[in-house]
Amino acid sequence: MEKIYNLTAFEIREKILNKELTSEEVVTAIFNRIEETDKEIGSFVSLRKEKALLEAKEVDRKIRSGEKVGSLAGVPIAIKDNMVSIGEPSQSASKILEGYEGIYDATVVKKLKAADAIIIGKTNMDEFAMGSTTTTSVYKQTTRNPWDLERVPGGSSGGAATSVAARQCFISLGSDTGGSIRQPASFCGVVGLKPTYGRISRYGLMAFASSLDQIGPFAKTVKDIALSLNVISGADDYDSTSEEVKVPNYLDYLTGDIKGMKIGVPKEYFIEGLNPGVKKVVDEALETFKSLGAEIIEISLPHTKYAAPTYYVLAPAEASSNLARFDGIRYGHRTIDANNIDELYIKSRSEGFGDEVKRRIMIGTYVLSAGFVDAYFKKAQKVRNLIKNDFNEAFDKVDIIFTPVTPGPAFRLDEKKSPVELYLEDIFTIPANLAGIPGISIPAGMTEGLPVGIQLLGRAFGEKDILKAGDAFEKAIKERV
Ligand code: GLN
Repeated sequence: MEKIYNLTAFEIREKILNKELTSEEVVTAIFNRIEETDKEIGSFVSLRKEKALLEAKEVDRKIRSGEKVGSLAGVPIAIKDNMVSIGEPSQSASKILEGYEGIYDATVVKKLKAADAIIIGKTNMDEFAMGSTTTTSVYKQTTRNPWDLERVPGGSSGGAATSVAARQCFISLGSDTGGSIRQPASFCGVVGLKPTYGRISRYGLMAFASSLDQIGPFAKTVKDIALSLNVISGADDYDSTSEEVKVPNYLDYLTGDIKGMKIGVPKEYFIEGLNPGVKKVVDEALETFKSLGAEIIEISLPHTKYAAPTYYVLAPAEASSNLARFDGIRYGHRTIDANNIDELYIKSRSEGFGDEVKRRIMIGTYVLSAGFVDAYFKKAQKVRNLIKNDFNEAFDKVDIIFTPVTPGPAFRLDEKKSPVELYLEDIFTIPANLAGIPGISIPAGMTEGLPVGIQLLGRAFGEKDILKAGDAFEKAIKERV
């Protein structure tokens, strides 16, 4: 029989429901797999093996006795370290939250548990989700790309991506503020979805930039993404930015038929810096969409070039405000030597935050300061609107938009990129966050032994369209190989 860990979440779920496998067997196989592989890969920062096995046995008992079970019954799932869960380490990979354990479950965690999923542990990330490499984590381990251990997995949800890519779980949850789900998905050869702003509750997600952050799933297939989206989507009284929009059954849209679908290709995304290997995969993917009967239409999103600078004003501004709550008093790390309250704040924060987080706090407070708020923060808000309008106009003409995910494949761990070079890695993923629209990264091919993804963007709450197109694409390329 095929190895358990190679199956999809959907297949696992079916086998557990049909009693071909027990959840206990699946969870045991997954923990064995983690033991064998995680020293090398470094996906996980904490595991909950005992609790997971007990929960798996309970799911098995329910199934044996014919009780109703949820739609992810018995399926092992991993969570990014910036989502809180009750009584468990929830540290956002930061020293400032050293020793902190959640005192409630994030809404997504609650929903997964209600669907009888088995949460297996927390995954590594860049500190407070700021980064593209998973190298700014406070945890000692390095998270490595399973395709080439000398390369980065991407970030900030690097551990979430590698946990699926290295077959250590079937679905994982990450967060995406400017690309942190889609970029590591592309680097690691898995599917990753950033949903529409407001589709999924952020209650219990540690805030980085609240007007951009979204939680989303990683999985092996688009179908598994749809399966998990069905569970974690929907309005939540605890998150006023979540929206009362009906959650369809996303699986219903995976028909494989995209004849006549209008796919826009923005000319601004095909820049000079695009790696030729990536370009080749992207061009071939477009041909596949054509062969499926989609209509390819060139479009223009004229303000694209302002997206990265706009993001790197707005995201740090929001971060500097969100991170003000970490004062050394209420949570985590507190300095041991302070003579007065000011010193306590200053020392706790200086010791507790890493360089990249400090850099963002400094940029953020600067662009919000009295003399500069009009020139930077307010200006960036206006440009954000122009970027949003570009998409609105494009979606009058097309159903979805097709782009590369990143300018190049995963880079080497020892390749020292400057902060600004790293910021420019995000140029293709940031616009969707600024516009609040959904985006998915889907494996499309390889270059020099490394996976390359393509990105599909949809209208707000148009997850069904990108899932439909992504699934059709995935089926088409599977047939070819
Ligand atoms: N790489 C981007 C940044 O450093 C995006 C991070 C994210 O989406 N959380 O801000």
